Amino acid sequence: MSNPIVPTAPIPGLKLEQVLDCVHCGICLSVCPTFDILGTEADSPRGRIYYIRALAEGKTDLNPTLVGHLDSCLGCRACETACPSAVQYGEMLVHVRDAIEKQFPRSPQERLSRGVLLELLTRPDRLAPAMFGAALGEKLGFGGMVRAANHFLFGPDAPEMPLPQDASPSVVPLPAYTYAKGERRATVAILPGCVMQVLFQRVNLATIRVLAANGCDVVVPDMGCCGALHEHNGALDGARARAKEAIRALEAAHVDAIVVNSAGCGASMKQYGHLLADDPYWKERGEAIAARTMDASEFLVKLGPIAPTHSVDRRVTYHDACHLAHAQKIRSEPRTLLKLIPGLSLVELPNSDWCCGSAGIYNFLQPELATQLQEKKVGHVLSTQPEILVTGNPGCHAWIEAGLKSRNAPVEVLHTMEVLDRAYHG
Ligand code: SF4
Ligand code: SF4
Repeated sequence: MSNPIVPTAPIPGLKLEQVLDCVHCGICLSVCPTFDILGTEADSPRGRIYYIRALAEGKTDLNPTLVGHLDSCLGCRACETACPSAVQYGEMLVHVRDAIEKQFPRSPQERLSRGVLLELLTRPDRLAPAMFGAALGEKLGFGGMVRAANHFLFGPDAPEMPLPQDASPSVVPLPAYTYAKGERRATVAILPGCVMQVLFQRVNLATIRVLAANGCDVVVPDMGCCGALHEHNGALDGARARAKEAIRALEAAHVDAIVVNSAGCGASMKQYGHLLADDPYWKERGEAIAARTMDASEFLVKLGPIAPTHSVDRRVTYHDACHLAHAQKIRSEPRTLLKLIPGLSLVELPNSDWCCGSAGIYNFLQPELATQLQEKKVGHVLSTQPEILVTGNPGCHAWIEAGLKSRNAPVEVLHTMEVLDRAYHG
């Protein structure tokens, strides 16, 4: 029987034919972390797609029940990996979230939390002094005030993340240009990132050293946020504005490839063509940047990595960040690189591609579910008895590290590029 005639989707960007790709088979339910915890159809991919379809057909509105079930979605896209009908759930979700943020009246607390998170995390010039102030406050014995501010901004259940011990009041700049070691094989730009520059500048530096050791000249473009966090949280206007700025800066770098060491940013940048699809001029420019964007592990494997010579005699396990494994389909490349390292013993993590609960700013917005997922992840990590947990996304890195620290587990958390850096440079 053919599908009934339905009205045009009232959600801008949401295509009804995409919604109708879902044949309701339910295969995705077994991989959905929120369905696993809550056990309710409405908190499964299929249930959420029913809601999205009702929206697209104009049979429902953006009511609190519907918004609640879409808010509880991690956006991890594990359902896309499992789906035999190639349903583009992630793309549908960003358009619905954009409509929710524009049309749904959130409470003042929710508006405050979302606004502060997006405006703080995507602005290193604000995030660095905020982290520095909080860390200093704690050192000087004002931890209670820091926690009170955390609860005021992000609600009474907001997670308490460990503060960096080496926080700096401003971003420590990266070298603008680093020359390849030996013969040059490529010239690349690395995405400095927002959270990366403040909390994980050491990962950026390690990435530059690893790329140089592999014969790459490395340019650090003068640029701001790539727009990923806005895109994933339903702020598409903000995401588009940031993407255009990023495109301008990356075009000006004139490089062979754009190397990204943050899974969420890479996943978003590879979709610049989709994000800017309404404007043919920007769509073309977005697609050109997307075509040159690669995760750091993906780039090195494509380039052909130079074998590292220093041993890293450690038992290591690897967590697949959702935006690498599910969004970018990058699973083998980090493992391939880790297996090149002499002395390193790689142990597979059970359910390594299950979301850890970080999911961008989800851990602040949905702390209860996020904490349950963090506990599951930490349990799996500890079951492999590793000395090092490796991952490729700053959110996962910080969230799993916080979970391990809360259990006093002696496990170091490193980015894939940091482990490689040790193997290249000792
Ligand atoms: S999203 Fe895919 S796997 Fe899930 S119910 Fe629909 S068709 Fe089946
Ligand atoms: S994105 Fe993740 S949490 Fe959301 S429906 Fe899909 S599997 Fe479930």
